[in-house]
Amino acid sequence: MAVTRTFSIIKPDATRRNLTGAVTKMLEEAGLRVVASKRIHMTREQAEGFYAVHKERPFFGELVEFMMSEPVVVQVLEGEDAVTRNRDIMGATNPADAAEGTIRKELALSIGENTVHGSDSEENAAIEIAFFFKPEEIVG
Ligand code: ADP
Ligand code: MG
Repeated sequence: MAVTRTFSIIKPDATRRNLTGAVTKMLEEAGLRVVASKRIHMTREQAEGFYAVHKERPFFGELVEFMMSEPVVVQVLEGEDAVTRNRDIMGATNPADAAEGTIRKELALSIGENTVHGSDSEENAAIEIAFFFKPEEIVG
């Protein structure tokens, strides 16, 4: 399995509850390495642009408002099969459906306030990484 990268966001419900370290610890324990990280307060333009794929969904407005509500931590994670590994440790979108030991099972509040974002394919990972990071900000 090749070493690859994925994109992660520690969402506002987690930064608000001071869980940045707890989330990162779970990512690291799952075999992922943080090779870029920054705390930002998303603008409306960033939140709408990042989630443009969901713009027709009924929860889009709520999602954008949530992502702008408090700071987030955007990260690039590196590891073997990083996209799948990250999706596995994240758990299902709805924490009620998430497996034991996953970030969303342990920490998420609801289907909306679900603690982490993770890219769903290597193609999207590359797009999402480039949305928030310059190449020189990523130190592998
Ligand atoms: P995931 O983050 O697991 O990839 P999606 O890409 O389907 O999930 O959705 C993006 C984000 O939109 C979710 O992580 C969650 O914050 C929010 N979301 C998804 N479904 C709902 C819903 N039914 N109600 C409110 N927010 C939702
Ligand atoms: Mg998704």
